Amino acid sequence: MKKFAIIGGGQCGLHLAFGLLDRGHDVTLYNDRNPEQLLASRIQSTAFLFNRTLEMERRLGLNFWEHEAPLGEGMLVDFRDPGGKSMLSVAGRLHEKSGQALDQRTKFARWMQEFERRGGKLVIRTVSLDELEQVAAEHTLTFIAAGKGAVNALFERDAERSRHHTPPRQLAALLLRGPKLLGERPWPKADFRPLRFNFIMGVGEFFSLPFYTHTAGECRSFLFEARPGGPMDRFGDAADGQEMLAVARQVLREYAPDDAAHLEDAKLTDPNAWLKGAFTPTIRKPVGTLPSGRVVMGVGDTVCLNDPIAGQGANNASRMAEHLLQAISEAHGEGLDAAWVQSTFDAFWENSASYTSAFSNLLLEPPGEAAMEVLGAAARHREVADAFMACFETPRDFWPWIDDRDAARQFVARRVHDAA
Ligand SMILES: Cc1cc2nc3c(=O)[nH]c(=O)nc-3n(C[C@H](O)[C@H](O)[C@H](O)COP(=O)(O)OP(=O)(O)OC[C@H]3O[C@@H](n4cnc5c(N)ncnc54)[C@H](O)[C@@H]3O)c2cc1C
Repeated sequence: MKKFAIIGGGQCGLHLAFGLLDRGHDVTLYNDRNPEQLLASRIQSTAFLFNRTLEMERRLGLNFWEHEAPLGEGMLVDFRDPGGKSMLSVAGRLHEKSGQALDQRTKFARWMQEFERRGGKLVIRTVSLDELEQVAAEHTLTFIAAGKGAVNALFERDAERSRHHTPPRQLAALLLRGPKLLGERPWPKADFRPLRFNFIMGVGEFFSLPFYTHTAGECRSFLFEARPGGPMDRFGDAADGQEMLAVARQVLREYAPDDAAHLEDAKLTDPNAWLKGAFTPTIRKPVGTLPSGRVVMGVGDTVCLNDPIAGQGANNASRMAEHLLQAISEAHGEGLDAAWVQSTFDAFWENSASYTSAFSNLLLEPPGEAAMEVLGAAARHREVADAFMACFETPRDFWPWIDDRDAARQFVARRVHDAA
């Protein structure tokens, strides 16, 4: 049995904490808010998890909302011109890869309680850089899973792996309930319950997901991703969720008029069901060295922070937790030093996170020729659309065809041929 400390009780930290407990280790989790404070806080995210991530949570026995949270069964995507006219519409089903989106307040509060119930030690404290020395001295290895927390300053930006120097989007999100948002077929254009994506050329994007929160049950999230300084970048002055909802209605009327009716009589699920802000996607080096020379490891968003446009951050955080659990088991908990931290992270980067980052960055720009080849075919052939959407759960599967026109043609031909 080894002793591990984890700073941050979010998707990565909690996933790792439960996995280490399952393997018989002694685990202490530090989080800056207790479950009650978390339940009463503003939303931090609107994360949708793909089936592969849900499977990991099922294996850990953490799927408490399996039967309440509505399934996201596929994507209904419109690519629009700057005036909001749809130029291309694609509907693809996820089938057995359907996922779910759950309020992280709901989930992490319950998981923290469950962690203590299973024998983990939960300490409610904002761990400072100074305090890390003490924590690291008492544990075999300390993981920093602090999301976008200030403690990240310990980890150097990786200039080779980071593409951004400023936030690519201004974000604004809401959780809403309304008569035209819930149920199995809220968008008649799709014969399934969709993740609704709108890409508006030069303006930005918005995403609406089937969602679940403890405050209201089934609802839908709306995430607006405005190009900074562009015409959708107008949530900045909104003082609260009500004002944001008013702006959201205006944005839909202007840029997705056929979606605007969905917000009729829509209401916030609770006064805290909104967020806005911006951040710079950043890849950091995973080895943090304290003044004493002790090493801590950055994980999750702390080292792989991507724009949420591709819905990957929490999925990536869990993929990384799984990768680490495997690597720790293989090492029998021995030799978890700086070289081990670096090589374990490098292996994850090469096999997984580099594709996640590349895909997230790709969606921030207009689709290239290869992607258009596939999307054009996807608009005509359901099999191609389904195959495209299925790749979201493992972004590596988008390669090589997402940026290689010949490979894209082959990808389409194979799907169309198989379906014939
Ligand atoms: C608007 C929005 C939409 C998103 N949509 C999606 C999506 O659809 N799909 C998806 O997969 N991802 C999505 N994400 C990203 C996803 O939410 C994050 O990538 C994921 O939560 C990262 O997990 P993490 O454990 O690394 O960090 P977090 O989940 O952020 O957890 C970090 C925790 O550490 C705590 N903490 C910070 N500093 C300290 C400290 N010093 N001491 C103690 N505790 C500390 C924080 O309070 C927090 O609880 C979205 C993000 C945003 C902002």
